[in-house]
Amino acid sequence: MYVWVNQELVERDRANVDLEDRGYQFGDGVYEVIRMYHGNFFMLQEHLDRLQYSLNEVGIPFNVKEHQVENKLKEIMKKNYIRDGAVYLQITRGAAPRNHGFPEHPEPVFTAYPLPVTRPHQEQLNGIRMTLVEDLRWLRCDIKSLNLLWNVIAKQKAKERGCFETLFYRNENHVTEGSSSNFFGVKNGVLITHPANSFILNGITRQAVLNICKEKQIPCEEKVMSLNDLKELDEAFITSTTAEVLPVKAIDDIRIGDGSVGPITRRIQKLFFERT
Ligand code: PLP
Repeated sequence: MYVWVNQELVERDRANVDLEDRGYQFGDGVYEVIRMYHGNFFMLQEHLDRLQYSLNEVGIPFNVKEHQVENKLKEIMKKNYIRDGAVYLQITRGAAPRNHGFPEHPEPVFTAYPLPVTRPHQEQLNGIRMTLVEDLRWLRCDIKSLNLLWNVIAKQKAKERGCFETLFYRNENHVTEGSSSNFFGVKNGVLITHPANSFILNGITRQAVLNICKEKQIPCEEKVMSLNDLKELDEAFITSTTAEVLPVKAIDDIRIGDGSVGPITRRIQKLFFERT
């Protein structure tokens, strides 16, 4: 497999990053995962915009356009003969003697390589179980940063509890999102999802679903749900680049609707697939 390390396309075995790369030592960097369907990146511009936003928010001096990231991503997929899959890319503040403060002359390090993606067919068809975990992440979840430690721990908790994904909550009145996905509820025909603010990552798949709702005039509200609200939902689903749209049939011992996949979730799934 070929990978990008800065301006070089090299074989994976030859790709080196410095021991003192700040991404490695501090999680001082940002990333994206972008899906490719039939040789085309899905919502590429939205991903690149979010990447530039993340870079700006953490003050990594890297211009996505100037570095021709779009061309690099296309090239890496071609070079590896991949038409269906995803690309992982990250940009760190680069290597410098270990010190918390920013280096005076940072040299950001760009890496990118293809990720294999297999559609979770069974889960898309039958739905998943989620488990509630307190959201102990920092308060800038809008930045797609490399600091994923609580997300990682939460996903492991889900696995140990026999669930596909975690549902985070800050307190009993505030459900946020999944450990690597956004959450949607459906109540009386209305979709409900957390507003795009610093408590969640504004997922690109989330944006795609909101666009679908606008186009098809499916009512949708961006508002915060409480733990009690979860008990009243008729349907629920999660969204992410790799999972796409996954129905949720239970959250711990809360059964969603009658425990089967609801009609609105199916419709959103279908409309989403049509776009890909
Ligand atoms: N929320 C978090 C915390 C994530 O890590 C992700 C994706 O990895 C998402 C939401 C979904 O975002 P997207 O639809 O852009 O993949």
